[in-house]
Amino acid sequence: METTAALRPENSLRPPQREFEVLLPVGYDDGGGTVRRRAWIRKMRGHEEALLYDPSLAPARLVTELLSGCLVRLEDLSPVDPRVIAGLYSADRNYLLVELRRATLGDHMAASYRCPACAVTVRVVEDLSTLPVRRMGEGERPGPITVELEDGAVGRNGDLHATVVLELPRGEDEDFVAPMLERDPLKARDALLLRCIRRFGSLPGAELDAYGVKLLRELTLGDRLRLRAAIDHAAPGVELRRTVTCEECGAHSEHLLDVTDFFGEGQEEATGSGRRSSTWPSISTGRGMTS
Ligand SMILES: [Zn+2]
Repeated sequence: METTAALRPENSLRPPQREFEVLLPVGYDDGGGTVRRRAWIRKMRGHEEALLYDPSLAPARLVTELLSGCLVRLEDLSPVDPRVIAGLYSADRNYLLVELRRATLGDHMAASYRCPACAVTVRVVEDLSTLPVRRMGEGERPGPITVELEDGAVGRNGDLHATVVLELPRGEDEDFVAPMLERDPLKARDALLLRCIRRFGSLPGAELDAYGVKLLRELTLGDRLRLRAAIDHAAPGVELRRTVTCEECGAHSEHLLDVTDFFGEGQEEATGSGRRSSTWPSISTGRGMTS
């Protein structure tokens, strides 16, 4: 009877730890053939709230930090190394953010959308428990995504390159493009897409690296959309596209989930609080994020 909680003052200030079990849409592949998908998270605390106010954290790093605190176990891994969290697919990271929000603040979130037909602001309370989640099947892994471009790109020797092989983005890819995010969001988005390209026609890797983002800028708009849509359609994870009905004019319109007040309580004004409640990695190419 020597180890009751009362005799351990280091524990006396902590709320009881309740863990929530979730199943990752893709899972962490350690390279050795083991895929870990069952994860346990705990509610956000003041430490994590402080992270939301830290302007030095780029969105991707912020997500990694939040999850480093709150992802308490990933199957047999506990604690979970931040490098593992950065190596997770964006789909899993976005899914974990949604689950973290639900565990901490509940399922309901205030959101507003502008009706494209009559410009009225439509305010709704989103129920995060109803967002559809697309998960890989048991033993299924995200394979390479092959896209046939309509126009393609012409290389230095005049060859046309039109078959592109893509892979889904991970946290470390978002982290890599983070420095461009504020100054040039389109460049950041292109750089992220570029990091997902495993093969572009028969372009040698060195030539692909040398072209960099310029290669994507040379593509026609249609081809650029084809690449983004291919990632969107292949991406597992939380479906963030929403159909909103305007109560004024009755028009239906498509939107991405409004995450302005993602880590807010849905009551206070998010703007001006200093809190970066739009914590969502806004350029993530998780499901629905590239359109
Ligand atoms: Zn309307």
